[in-house]
Amino acid sequence: MKLLALSDEVVPLIYSGQIKQRFADIDLVIACGDLPYYYLEFVVSMLDIPLAYVHGNHDARKQRMSNGRIATEAEGCHNIDGKVMTIKSLNVAGLGGSMRYRPDGTHQYSDSAMTRRILRQTPALLARQIQRRPLHIFATHSPPFGIHDRKDLPHTGFKSFLRYLDIFQPQLMLHGHIHLYREPKQPVTQYKNTTIINVYPYRVINYDTNSGQFS
Ligand SMILES: [Zn+2]
Repeated sequence: MKLLALSDEVVPLIYSGQIKQRFADIDLVIACGDLPYYYLEFVVSMLDIPLAYVHGNHDARKQRMSNGRIATEAEGCHNIDGKVMTIKSLNVAGLGGSMRYRPDGTHQYSDSAMTRRILRQTPALLARQIQRRPLHIFATHSPPFGIHDRKDLPHTGFKSFLRYLDIFQPQLMLHGHIHLYREPKQPVTQYKNTTIINVYPYRVINYDTNSGQFS
């Protein structure tokens, strides 16, 4: 299975007429936040495959599209923020947003608020665990605390995500939010049974769902 993961930035290579040729063999798109709906809708309509997304801290709840439509969701895409879904036989869970740094900010959460979001997902995750169905992909905007995160509050990762990884052991955790400037490669970190990848601004992932291995 081949994944295309996106986050934080509209990539000209993807937002172009060449997308079909360049990404013809992608099976599933995962978008990790801070991306306009027009971009997600473009990708899903051009590639004609499922796209699952979570929100980033810069995503407005309502976005005006070029045709004047006021969009509250990316049409034709799966909003998995706060949800657990099975898409193309993969179990996928999503928790968007960043650490709260403004009292009125949308898609911003304290660590305890994020824990409450995790608790709401827990019944669906436990049901899958009981059936021995692995959680394949955990899609977030922010990283976990201490892994790929930064010291400033908006870019501090969630401690609650570490507990999430301990308990639900997703094979892959994909996040964005941490923009890379000088780093030659996107950071990849193995944390217990989970491979954590910062996908900013995009990454193609060859993913063996049986072994959980990727390249
Ligand atoms: Zn962000």
